[in-house]
Order: sequence, then structure tokens, then C-alpha cells
Amino acid sequence: MEQKVIRDDHPRGRSGWRPRRVNLTSEHLSIKPSDFDYLKIIGKGSFGKVLLARHRETTKYYAVKVLQKKIILKKKEQKHIMAERSVLMKNIKHPFLVGLHYSFQTTDKLYFVLDYVNGGELFYHLQRERVFLEPRARFYAAEIASALGYLHSLHIVYRDLKPENILLDSQGHIVLTDFGLCKEGLDPSGTTSTFCGTPEYLAPEVLQKQAYDRTVDWWCLGSVLYEMLYGLPPFYSRNTAEMYNNILHNAPVLKPNISNSGRELLEGLLQKERSKRLGAKDDFLELKYHSFFSPINWDDLMAKKITPPFAPSVSGPTDLRHFDPEFTHLPVSASLCGDSVMVTSSVKEAAGAFPGFSYGPPADHSFM
Ligand code: AMP
Repeated sequence: MEQKVIRDDHPRGRSGWRPRRVNLTSEHLSIKPSDFDYLKIIGKGSFGKVLLARHRETTKYYAVKVLQKKIILKKKEQKHIMAERSVLMKNIKHPFLVGLHYSFQTTDKLYFVLDYVNGGELFYHLQRERVFLEPRARFYAAEIASALGYLHSLHIVYRDLKPENILLDSQGHIVLTDFGLCKEGLDPSGTTSTFCGTPEYLAPEVLQKQAYDRTVDWWCLGSVLYEMLYGLPPFYSRNTAEMYNNILHNAPVLKPNISNSGRELLEGLLQKERSKRLGAKDDFLELKYHSFFSPINWDDLMAKKITPPFAPSVSGPTDLRHFDPEFTHLPVSASLCGDSVMVTSSVKEAAGAFPGFSYGPPADHSFM
């Protein structure tokens, strides 16, 4: 069977940005694990690892997310992985969303070849500095909000916004990763009720197992903005039951060390009743025109013409100073580049293969 791979070149950083059609080129007809050198482990998710890899031929660097089917099946999480694949494969192109270049699978693993983003997690920088000054928090919140608004326009709800999923690129721009909890096909008035998310950021309606809609993302943005400005999530308690009680019943404490418009925005986003939440009517537009964001020129923001308030200072792609040494010091398994058990090497083929994929015992037992 002819194998085709969707290749893309990111139109990032250009004004007049627009999703582009992808090209199928003969030079990438048979992408496979051994086309890459796997240099370092740079992160870990629930189902596998994320590695820095270099394409042998083009010498371009990528982050390769390698998921183990065995673990996915054990955790019965196929649905979430499907969501991630499906969202990534929609060929989403946005300056602040991670891009997928290739995906392929072997009998035991799924590979996603993503933009490599090496400015570190927002969480890592926030922990080091405890809080961000308002202009810096505003810049990040604006880039995140525009990415969420774009996903919503495609009827996708992100659902899992938290500092660990928000990366900085080498210049200091936001890149949202991890589409594992995205919910697709939710139109503006659509609701869903799957209980998922991260405890600190759970919206009241999710916690109460009620129907929820895209406004959960605005709640989460409120939580992340609060944490950037005040140093802790809004309803935080070491005691999870107490934290849930705070989320459901207590107003966020908005100390006066931030501007009125900042507090007003937080109040709007952290509104417990979702129908009254900022964004409930006109989604992203309500945030865009909020006074907190009045210093932001949104066209410039989308064109990456606003100089980021902080530059992560990386010397090049192999500068891993912003990744946790706990990961980067781990040995990289040689089994990653074995091709003997290739199943599909194409994003398009994988689309058909994943929904019914079955786990085959690995030919190489020592993977990862
Ligand atoms: P995930 O499984 O998507 O949550 O990824 C786990 C960790 O790997 C993240 O918290 C990041 O530190 C890192 N990571 C994920 N995607 C990328 C990427 N595209 N570039 C660089 N690091 C990444």
C-alpha cells in the first residue's frame, strides 16, 4: 500500500496567518522511527515519554511523543489518545498551539512528531519567580486566550489548561501542548459531562458532574491567570476536600495588589455559574475586548510582533537547561528506532488504524 505522510511547514510568525493546506510529498512517503536520532528524554506524560529527536536527513529537531499501546489499553484511555491524535491531525495551525508534523505507529507504540519547544514549562518559570508582574501575565493570558478561542471556533474544548501544559518557545511565546483531554464536536451551545481535568483547576460544574461547555476553558484560564498573579491556584488547599469545597462555595480571594481590571477579569472568569461566566455569550471576543487586555494589539499578538516579556535564553536546540534533569539524565532506549514492527507510517493511514488498533506483543521487549 502506498504510504503517504502529511508534511507541513509552519507559517508561524507571519502576519496574515491562516490555516494552510498540507502537501503530500514523495520525499516523506515512508517516515519511520529509524528516520530519527533520539537524543534525550525531555518529559513524561501518563502514557509514555517525550523525546528530543533529530531527523537524520533534514537535521531538523522535533519533540517525539512516544506512547505505549499497552499502557493506554491498561488504563482504558484509548478515547483520550484518540482525541489527542484526532485534534493534532486536524492540521490545526495556530501560532500558540503545538503543531504535528508526522505520526506513525509500530505494533506496540504510537509516535507523534511535534514541534520542539524548548523554553520550558510556564510552571517551571512561575515556580522560580513565584509570581509574574501584570504585563507579563497579561501577555501569556492573551496568547493562551487566542489559542483557546481558535480551538473553540473549531468546536474543540481544551479542558485541561494548567501550567504544565503551557510551554514557552525559545523566544518566550506560548505553545499549548497535550490535547489528550480535548473534547471535539462541541458546538457553541453543546455540553458534555465527562469528569476530567486537574484538581486545582476543576470548574464547579465539572466537579459537580454537571453538564459543561466550552466555558470550562475560561474558568481554567482564570485559574492559571490567578496563579500567575498571586502565586497559587485560586482555591488552593493542601486538603483536596477543602479545595473542592472552596471551588464550589467560596469566592476567590482577590487581594488589591493587582489592578482593578485584572481583578474584574478574574471575577468574570472564575464565575461559578457558567452561564454568567465571562465568555459565556461571545466566547473569546468577550475576553479580547475586556479592559484588562486593552494594552494588547491582537493583530500584532497573532503575528508574534509583540516582543515577549521574558526570553528563556537558550543557546540552541540542544540546550536543555529548561527541562527537568530527572528526565534528561535518563538513558534513551535503543528500541525506539527499530523499524521491524512498523504498522503504518502515515498520518492518513493512522487515522483509520487507531480507532480499531489492537495491541500486538512487542518484537523488542526492552522498549522505553
Ligand atoms: P505530555 O504528555 O504532552 O503532557 O508531555 C509531557 C511533558 O513533555 C510536558 O510537560 C513537557 O515538559 C514535555 N513536552 C511535551 N510536548 C513537548 C514539545 N512539543 N516540545 C518540548 N517538550 C514537550
